[in-house]
Amino acid sequence: MAEGDLAAQTPVPGPAPTKKESLYADHVKIHSRSIKGTFRSLKWAALYVLLGLYYIGPFIRWDRGPGAPDQALLIDMTGRRAYFFMIEIWPQEVYYLTGLLILGAIGLFLVTALFGRVWCGFTCPQTVWTDLFIRVERLVEGDRNARIKLDKAPLSLNKIGRKLLKHGLWLLIAFATGGAWILYFGDAFEILGDFFVGGESPTVYGFTALFTGTTYVLAGWAREQVCIYMCPWPRFQSAMFDEHSMIVTYEEWRGEPRAKYKRGEDFSQRGDCVDCGLCVQVCPTGVDIRKGQQMACIGCALCVDACNSIMDRYKLPRGLITYDSISNQVAREKGEATKLRLIRPRTILYATVLAIVAAVLVVSLSSRSRLEINIQRDRAPLFVTLSDGDIRNGYTYKVLNMERAEKHYTLRTAGIPGATMHVIGVSPEGATQADLSVKPDTVGTFKVYVTVPRGNLQAKSTEMNFVLTDKETGDEHGHETVFIGPAR
Ligand code: SF4
Ligand code: SF4
Repeated sequence: MAEGDLAAQTPVPGPAPTKKESLYADHVKIHSRSIKGTFRSLKWAALYVLLGLYYIGPFIRWDRGPGAPDQALLIDMTGRRAYFFMIEIWPQEVYYLTGLLILGAIGLFLVTALFGRVWCGFTCPQTVWTDLFIRVERLVEGDRNARIKLDKAPLSLNKIGRKLLKHGLWLLIAFATGGAWILYFGDAFEILGDFFVGGESPTVYGFTALFTGTTYVLAGWAREQVCIYMCPWPRFQSAMFDEHSMIVTYEEWRGEPRAKYKRGEDFSQRGDCVDCGLCVQVCPTGVDIRKGQQMACIGCALCVDACNSIMDRYKLPRGLITYDSISNQVAREKGEATKLRLIRPRTILYATVLAIVAAVLVVSLSSRSRLEINIQRDRAPLFVTLSDGDIRNGYTYKVLNMERAEKHYTLRTAGIPGATMHVIGVSPEGATQADLSVKPDTVGTFKVYVTVPRGNLQAKSTEMNFVLTDKETGDEHGHETVFIGPAR
């Protein structure tokens, strides 16, 4: 390695920052310019669909029968249940939510490998709400130049009025957003009816205020800083890219050497970029994509629309900034044919894992038991020796009936000959089985004493089964436990 190379890699301690110098760059406010085009239209479409789904979501009804909530999407904190149309998740089944998150993550990997940062640029809630807030800002304060001028202008009635109106509208949207989120945690119509007459709990008002504040700060003030500094996704999403992933890039080979356009100039003697800066002005994160791929670029493709409008003006081919793969860009540079390669080893891998996880989730959801059994053996004392020498163990037997109808079962023991049982309040001493009933949607808790003649025990600890039989269907549910006796 040359000495110069080594020197270039060796960090040289610089002068310590003086008191006035900051280690951090000042935040430069971005006044993004509006633009029309294909990707802008796609972004509006995504925004309307997603906001529509979000605000309408809590009002969709789903009939689950008498006594059950009829809200299609509901996280019922008091009833400790989550409802998603026909699917009902109990707290014990929270792993299904984990499965859904895993499914979402792999889906995101696949989409990123295929279409780049389409999630960030078009569908991420931060992007959607920021877009909405910027639209309001433009309506009230005007487009980029008017906003820059207004920000620089001294305080006046006009400035105060516009700022107050903008922040008022932002707060209104933030309140609608935070309020709508709360509607997913209770009956939407009831909450809406009670909210404005002071009939809701302090928790509802508190969380609405919290989510309102969060939306206002993140979409109104923090904006691109959330994407650049707070979100972890941009930091590792490049691992999902390959040369066939669709990304937003500047075709340097075509655009350079860039220069301002002089009337009558021949483009064959220069690059196609007229250095108008429109691509930077429309960028919501302030990126100059001509400097290459950057983490701050969220892939919204507004710069593609901007540059295409300039190319149209100069009657040059569109696509100087393009939403395409690197391999196609290279092919174009060489004058070769381009092609969209969606099926590749990594997309096959992601799609396969996605399909497997989805299949496991669907199968386990559709075949899951609506009954859960939990057995706890008494530990103090471990066993009791009765006056006739028989040994008795105590158990707490819990049956969780997840169905909406009362269930009737018979309970018996298996594995130890001569064992009898006594379920407190249900069956007499010396019975061989007991009839249990569990109300809908509840946990039935039973105290069970099992008695075994001492001579029937071959060891200090003997395996034993509790067998619960559904009287209606005949389905048997066996659960293992142990029976403890004295050492032989
Ligand atoms: S550089 Fe282009 S694609 Fe990237 S964030 Fe800016 S406008 Fe969107
Ligand atoms: S919009 Fe196009 S022509 Fe204008 S500066 Fe950007 S890349 Fe160059």
